[in-house]
Amino acid sequence: MFKGLNFFCSITSICTLIGVFVFGIAKAQNCDHLKMDIRFDENILKMEALYHHKIGDSSDSLFFILNPDVDSLKIQGVNLNNFLIHEKQNRPFPYLKLNFNRVLIKGEIIDLHFSYQIDLVKQNHLNSDWIELNLDKFWFPNHNDIDNKFTYELNIAGLPSDFTLISHIDADIKIDNSNKILIQKRSPDIEVLILAGKDMRNWKADSSSQITFIASKHTPDSLLHSMHEKVFQSIKFMNESFGKSNPIKEFKVVLRNTTKKEIGFQFARKNMIITASDFNSYGNLSHEIAHFWWFDADFIKEPWMNESFANYSMFLVLEQYDPSTFTEIFNKYKELSFDAPAVDQATLFSDDAYNSYYIKGSILLKRLELIIGKSKMNELLELRITKRINNTEKLLNELEILTDLTTRNLFKRMLLE
Ligand SMILES: [Zn+2]
Repeated sequence: MFKGLNFFCSITSICTLIGVFVFGIAKAQNCDHLKMDIRFDENILKMEALYHHKIGDSSDSLFFILNPDVDSLKIQGVNLNNFLIHEKQNRPFPYLKLNFNRVLIKGEIIDLHFSYQIDLVKQNHLNSDWIELNLDKFWFPNHNDIDNKFTYELNIAGLPSDFTLISHIDADIKIDNSNKILIQKRSPDIEVLILAGKDMRNWKADSSSQITFIASKHTPDSLLHSMHEKVFQSIKFMNESFGKSNPIKEFKVVLRNTTKKEIGFQFARKNMIITASDFNSYGNLSHEIAHFWWFDADFIKEPWMNESFANYSMFLVLEQYDPSTFTEIFNKYKELSFDAPAVDQATLFSDDAYNSYYIKGSILLKRLELIIGKSKMNELLELRITKRINNTEKLLNELEILTDLTTRNLFKRMLLE
């Protein structure tokens, strides 16, 4: 079975999918559009997808990413000759190469029809009363790379009535009388997000709380209170320190009906995190919450700008609320970063990159904090938010303005070591 992107977070217990939610400013007419009919038929999900694509560089072939464990795959399109499984350099993804019988010209629009099925029992946690279809295992066709953005509209029929559906926070969801669901995502994104759990309920610690848990009816209140406390304190702490200019207001915590053992990672989408009851720690929850601010760097080229900042934010929360775990994780991270390649060189797909962009970068940010002091460090984080600083060069520029050239050069050297 194709393992998907879980390798991003296989090392520590603090796991996440990359902070992939990227605000789309792409012009709608220039970006791809995915229109899908999705039908639940017992444990089989029947997918009919129309992928609307504008040709970039002229070519007689196109690459698509799609999970190889889908069943009965058919692809049709005008001038499409055939398709085959094909590898691509520097990308550990399941690619399909679509060969056409003529050169597709730059700017030309083509429609491709994908038809396939997913066995939800074998592939998608249905045995745990949980369905999770998103970027991590490529259940939806996407052109060329994981950062390709598209808009989407989904018609979903047959979702069992005792399942609750959850999607992107900025997607429109309409349910008609016959229980058909229409999801429209008008701002371009890099994934389709469909989550669904059986017997879910919305839960708040009290009626005025801004934090909503979406969890199984069978999750005990005591556990929800325990997780709520950590989410509440983490948000409060970060809102009052670096997050002042763009504080978290409403927040959603989705608790899957399954365990960390079954799905080894949690992830964040804007002001929503998708986690499970066995991720109940300040470390796990604060890292994910911090991605509300740290998501907008190029997650392929400079993943440290998202992940190490989330881990550094986690350090700050742990120091405040769980100091013994802070010491434990910090020491473990120090050890793991010892042999890790330079943070500056660590792209998502370079060798041994994870220990660099996820761990070593956070240790370097902690060292920078020791050099410039907590208050300047906080200022730097705040500036990253207000000035939308989303790459290393801009960060170094800001550091120089805030401190001096010597500090800039020192931190730059640390990133290159
Ligand atoms: Zn993360």
